[in-house]
Order: sequence, then C-alpha cells, then structure tokens
Amino acid sequence: KLHSEHNEEIIFRSKYPGVAVPDNLTLPDFVLQDAELYADKVAFVEAMGGKAYTYGEVLRDIKRFAKALKSLGLRKGRVVIVVLPNVAEYGIVALGIMAAGGVFSGANPTAHISELEKQVEAADAKLIVTNGTVYEKVKGLGLPVIVVGEKRIESAINWSELLEAADRAGNYITKEDVQQTDLCALPFSSGTTGMSKGVMLTHRNLVANLCSTLFSVGPEIIGQVTTLGLIPFFHIYGITGICCATLRNKGKVVMMNRFDLRTFLNALITQEITFAPIVPPIILSLVKDPIVEEFDLTKLKLRAVMTAAAPLAPELLNAFEKKFPGVQVQEAYGLTEHSCITLSHGDPVKGHGIAKKNSVGFILPNLEVKFIDPDTGRSLPKNTPGEICVRSLCVMQGYYNNEEETSQTIDKNGWLHTGDIGYIDDDGDIFIVDRIKELIKYKGFQVAPAELEAILLTHPSVDDAAVVPLPDEEAGEIPAACVVMNANSKENEEDIMNHVASTVAHYKKVRVLQFVEAIPKSPSGKIMRRLLKEKMVEKMKTK
Ligand code: AMP
Repeated sequence: KLHSEHNEEIIFRSKYPGVAVPDNLTLPDFVLQDAELYADKVAFVEAMGGKAYTYGEVLRDIKRFAKALKSLGLRKGRVVIVVLPNVAEYGIVALGIMAAGGVFSGANPTAHISELEKQVEAADAKLIVTNGTVYEKVKGLGLPVIVVGEKRIESAINWSELLEAADRAGNYITKEDVQQTDLCALPFSSGTTGMSKGVMLTHRNLVANLCSTLFSVGPEIIGQVTTLGLIPFFHIYGITGICCATLRNKGKVVMMNRFDLRTFLNALITQEITFAPIVPPIILSLVKDPIVEEFDLTKLKLRAVMTAAAPLAPELLNAFEKKFPGVQVQEAYGLTEHSCITLSHGDPVKGHGIAKKNSVGFILPNLEVKFIDPDTGRSLPKNTPGEICVRSLCVMQGYYNNEEETSQTIDKNGWLHTGDIGYIDDDGDIFIVDRIKELIKYKGFQVAPAELEAILLTHPSVDDAAVVPLPDEEAGEIPAACVVMNANSKENEEDIMNHVASTVAHYKKVRVLQFVEAIPKSPSGKIMRRLLKEKMVEKMKTK
C-alpha cells in the first residue's frame, strides 16, 4: 500500500542546475545526433576477434535493420526479444528495433528455454533476434528468428541477407512514425515483489536519463572515451549506461561477451580502455585474484571505473584504491524502473566534486528524491534512513499488462518506490543502507525469490518453500531456500537444488537449501523473509 496522501513532504533535489531534455528526438536520433560528422570513427569493437563497426556503419545498419523489420511486418509498439551476448551488432539491433517503432526486450542468452518462454509470453513478442551460438536454444520458441553474424542457418532469417533485401525494398520509415513518447524498451525486472515483469520505458524516459546522467561530462571526454562493454546489454545498465551513453559521448565501446579475468585485463590494456563500468564482484577479483600480478598495470589507460547494481563493501573500495591508485571509483545507484542511473558521483575533472567515499552519489539534475518511513509513508528529514522514492522524467510508464503491481510501485503523485533504504547527508550525498524489497542480487543479476519458490513448489515432494538472500563475499548475495518436504519424501537437499538448477539460468541456482518444519508467515500469509534470513544466517554460523 502506498501512502501518498501525506502533505508535509520533504523533497530533495539535485545540488546542480537542471539540464534541458530535447523533446523531439527518439533515442536512436538522440544518441547518434551528429554521427554523420564522425562516420569513420569506430563505435563498437569486439575485444575478441576485433570485429568492428564505425559510426557510419552503425547509422547505415540501424536504418537498414529498421526497414527490414518493417518489411517483416513489425508493427509499432510490438516487442522483439533479443537473446544475444555482447556482440558488435548488439547496439545496432537494439536501436534498429527502436527506430522501426518496435520495442527492444533483451533476454539473457544463458537463460533456460522455459525462462525465455515466459518472457516471450509476458511481452507478447512475435520475433526473436539471436546469433548462431544461441540459435539452437531459441528455435524451440516457435517464432521467426533473425540470426545476427556470419553463420548462415537454413531455417532462420539471416542478418546480411535481411539487410541486403532491405536495400532493395521500397518502404521507408518516416520520422512521424516514431514519437519520443512511444515505448522503446521492455527490460524485465521483478521490482519490489513477485515475478519478473516487463518494465515499460519510452524513448523520452531513456533520453531524459542520459541527459541527467551525462550532465557532468566535460569536453575532454567527448570523442575520447573508450568504454568497456562487459555488462550485458540486455540489462538496463548495459544498454543505457554503457551503449547509449558512450554513443552520445562519441566514444567507442569494446564489447566483451563474458567475464574472464585474463581476457578482461588484456582488453583493458590492448584496447586502451579509459572507462570501465563494472559490478562489485569484478572489483573483488581485481583486488584478490593473483592473475592480476601477471599484468603490467602501469600500461593501463583506465581513468575511472563505475560500480553499480549492488552494494560495494567499504573494505573492498579501500583495497581497490590502494592497488589501482590512478583509477577513480565512481559508485552509482540505479534501477531498471528508473531507466538506469539515478544517483551517481560526478566528474572531478570538470570541477564537480565527487560525492563522499562509500556514498552512492548525489541526486542527478532534474530528479526529485524523498525518503519515507515504509510503514507510515511519512517523508523523513536528512540523515534519517527511509525508503528511497524518486520522481522524474525517467520513471517507467509501468509494468507491462500489470496494473496492480504498477500501482504498488508508482503512487498517484508519480513517486517511484524503489524498495531500497537510504539517507541523504548534510552535503546531499546519499548512502544506501538496506533493501526491503524481496529481490536478490547475485553478482548484480536479478533473482526473484517468487520465481524460485514457484519452481520449488512444482517438485512433488515439496509442500512449501521460501527463498531469501544470504550474504556472500564473492557474489554479494546468494539465493538460499527453506523447504518443507512432505512426509513420504525420499529426496535430499541436493536433489531439490538440482531440480531448480535444471530449469534456470546459472545465476539463479539455489546455493543453500535447508529442510524446515514450517515457513514463518504473517497472519496475512506473507512469508516473513527477514526473520527467515536471520534464522538462516544464524544456522550457517553455528555450522
Ligand atoms: P536492477 O533493476 O537490476 O538494476 O536492480 C536495481 C536494484 O539494484 C536497486 O533497487 C538496488 O536494490 C540495487 N542496487 C543498484 N545499485 C546499487 C548500489 N550502488 N548499491 C546498492 N544497491 C544497488
């Protein structure tokens, strides 16, 4: 229940002046606004193999792909599911779908087929884009499949043939076809509760997010930045924070399709990466893994790393700063429902002081933030932890086909309730202290407890189940389950964990499982997650 009626609201705004948000450009037009002027510059290059696209080629292929999608019958507002690792074409695919008036919905290429089926169904998608490696998995979805890359597959629509056919076709997309207020992306997030849901984002949401996020970028960055494209582009951090932000800054994205420390460090050095948006577990391996010693770190051109998606432990930050003294750490906080970044550190080079250490940053321009008591909805003064609520042009339109959960997340005054607890200090820096939503974050990836509970309950021997996060040094959090088995069951804990593992992506596996007598529930039948988590932590300690 959202309490928006309270009138003595205490609203915090950015300490920096507002920034203008153009209201006539779609996302592809905004991020590639002047790209014809630097058409020869490389926009995307794969770290392994070196496949690259210049800005001129990106512009050309976005147009060709959009035209091809139209000729395949894609109608405005229709969702296309993209099941791709971070390949050189990813940005072209996503922006091409948007330029055609379609809605880009990224999916994890390591997802289980049943997870993809759910996404296809929830999004009412009619078309899939994948590559030769993932094709075998997605062909079972029963939809037409476009295969990106060189590999030719007889039963699929092949990328280069599709683009060549588009060159010969006559239908064009006119600017009027796509408005800034149209939906352009449907990433999936479980939000504060329940199953994964499509987050409806418009071109305007994402353009506004980029305007706020990039406010502190100085002229020395424009055209100079080489960004690491490791965070998956199916996640909002990848597509907005890395892909679109770098294109808007006229930079280059070095695409990496999986994390391996040696390849990562090699790419940082050989590709002269200056900016690496990563997640806390990567910081951990950079600090702890002896492989790092194999590399001459003086060769790094790295100027800054951004870490977001999950909390960064203060000790880890200290250790990183010691090992990489020239590299600035910019912590940031964001969420899919707010189009990506929400709070961040500025750029000290331009004179905007960075926020304090261990803070996730300050309020970006154009945003309003308040902190509320989660029980009463009353807004709280500074230095007092409460649920972070945000209101801006970046707030999603809602969850796709899910008015109930939308109204539980965005109140009638337009505040997005994040499910995170934090406070703002006297200098306007914000600190995250807790998460009250159910969501589990394994290495920055979303794991929805409700989804794992539903899978556990499909096992014939399971009577009841609850999934909660347990703290873990490497992953941040791991999904842990409490399970009530029925009286005649023969299975052990491992059997039940394997049951889940066989139908989910690797990061969603239940990693700790305990058999219990009963799941603690509130009088209204809600799982008492906090209590359960405390009990499990206690039990682990005594083991
Ligand atoms: P997602 O929508 O997958 O980006 O997940 C958003 C959630 O990740 C937020 O609501 C937070 O719970 C968590 N999160 C993101 N950034 C941070 C951060 N810097 N520190 C702590 N938690 C974070």
